[in-house]
Amino acid sequence: MTRTHRKKVLLLMSGGTLGMDGKRPTPLHPGTYLRNLVQVVPEIGEIADVESDILFNLDSSNIGPTHWSQLAERIGDSILSRAAPDGIVLIHGTDTMAYTASALSFMLPGIDRPVVLTGSQRPLQEIRSDARQNLLNAVELATMNIPEVTVCFGSRLFRGNRVTKVDSWRYGAFESPGMPPLAELGVTVDISDEIRYPKSPFRVQNTVDSRVMVVWVTPGLNPQTIVAGVRAANIRGLVVAAFGSGNLTTEPPAMLEALTSIVNDGVTVVVTSQTLRGGVDLTLYDCGAALLRLGAIPAGDMTLEATVTKLMWALANTDSPTDVNRVMQQNIAGELTHEAHGHAT
Ligand code: ASP
Repeated sequence: MTRTHRKKVLLLMSGGTLGMDGKRPTPLHPGTYLRNLVQVVPEIGEIADVESDILFNLDSSNIGPTHWSQLAERIGDSILSRAAPDGIVLIHGTDTMAYTASALSFMLPGIDRPVVLTGSQRPLQEIRSDARQNLLNAVELATMNIPEVTVCFGSRLFRGNRVTKVDSWRYGAFESPGMPPLAELGVTVDISDEIRYPKSPFRVQNTVDSRVMVVWVTPGLNPQTIVAGVRAANIRGLVVAAFGSGNLTTEPPAMLEALTSIVNDGVTVVVTSQTLRGGVDLTLYDCGAALLRLGAIPAGDMTLEATVTKLMWALANTDSPTDVNRVMQQNIAGELTHEAHGHAT
């Protein structure tokens, strides 16, 4: 008699609305509900053998680089253990889920099994909640051959470093503007052929340098505020969210002068776009080409979340600004559609 192999899924919890206590309209806060998750949604056990672990119980606004490193370590330990799970589900608040998913995608090179982040817009405790469906979908996907860090939300599966939270009301809270979803969950689970498979042995590379700052440029912004912020906080990486395809004010030249002095101080300056689609092309307009000339790096079509976390990771894992520059323009974990040709130096 042949017995079918039951898949093992590790359910890690970091908090978020899914497990929060309290009924609206009171402010939601992390509660004790997470502890009973498997009892509350017993169907999970029909999909896989589930082991769960509460790592933190935080609103994701309180999750940052230190937590990403801890999460990567916990995931790495489980994968490298003798009783390794077939897949991992990470329950996480939606607010910063795209940052955590992006960070994990860089911290877990060679990932060889699914790491699926999910959460919900309403607590599991509430009747008309999206939590149960998201959870069941995520556990199901964690048993499949999708060896990437992903986000499962609103019946779609996205590459983790391509998502951004676009809605705080609709159940479809996430989009991946630069690429189609990796899977759609309807009556059947339709998986795209864009899934990435590991090309190197799995390892954990979970150090980051959080001295990264983002500036969302607006017309009339005093460039000296950027210089002052960078110097005051000893910033090593500056992400400039520029207009359109990566353009900034060139006349008067104060902005270019400010950024030049920042680059001369040894800070890595990366240019991203304020638009959701299309990415950065610093060769299209004079107002973008000027940035290339002063040594800024184009972020291509990376999301802001991927750009920030990749820069933090690159700063901690490379030896020189030239290396940071090269890594930023390289496709490390599927975060970039086209690698840049001809690196800025
Ligand atoms: N503030 C919550 C969090 O990110 C929102 C959510 O989970 O949807 O933890």
